[in-house]
Amino acid sequence: MKNIFEKFGYNLSEKQLSQFNFYYEILTEYNEKFNITAITDKEGVYVKHFSDSLLGSSLIKGKTLIDIGSGGGFPAVPLKILIPELEVTLVEATGKKCTFLTEVVKELKLSEVTVLNERAEELGKKDKYREKFDNASARAVAKLNVLSELCLPFLRIGGRFIAYKANAEEEIENSKTAIELLGGKTGNILTFDLLGENRCIIEILKVKKTPEIYPRNNNKIMKKPL
Ligand code: SAH
Repeated sequence: MKNIFEKFGYNLSEKQLSQFNFYYEILTEYNEKFNITAITDKEGVYVKHFSDSLLGSSLIKGKTLIDIGSGGGFPAVPLKILIPELEVTLVEATGKKCTFLTEVVKELKLSEVTVLNERAEELGKKDKYREKFDNASARAVAKLNVLSELCLPFLRIGGRFIAYKANAEEEIENSKTAIELLGGKTGNILTFDLLGENRCIIEILKVKKTPEIYPRNNNKIMKKPL
């Protein structure tokens, strides 16, 4: 599977390759019980989960990353394998998925990774987590305007939110007001062809503090998205 990573420009060490291999094994072993992914063939997982997750790595700056709605650990676990010095916080609302994530962290011997069974909009109100992180990431969790409300409160000024999306333009257009209200500003947009599928990564820079009223509760976020 080394050649798949190489195709996307990632030259991984033996240790990193064996961590990905082990991750694949745990993922397929737990998948029936934990319902983590519809993709289970090895090449599919290496392309659509592992390599896809790494596509945002060039945007990461600084030491800390908070991943919102981690599910099976994407994109943050592959990013942690690629960048071992990264301090990672995985936020996931579903308890079963957190059990799986905790197992992955233990089995892959990943240090400085914290798994939190919490909702992002609750955690984002707490001082310990608010305006603290260098990077936030999210893949396949919600539309960009909703995601911005969940993710931007965690960032310190100068930090960045890295949003994994299939299409950028429409999402950005529909999220302009939200991004500005929350103290963000659109940065780089990276586009990729993931073996025939469009992928883009939207960088949103934190330029101002997020007003205290955000994030609102889940009901408000869903009923009246910014
Ligand atoms: N990021 C993973 C999982 C996507 S599925 C991937 O790309 O494969 C979306 C996940 O986000 C689900 O596991 C769901 O439980 C979680 N989630 C949705 N809203 C959330 C919230 N407000 N706070 C925390 N987790 C949330």
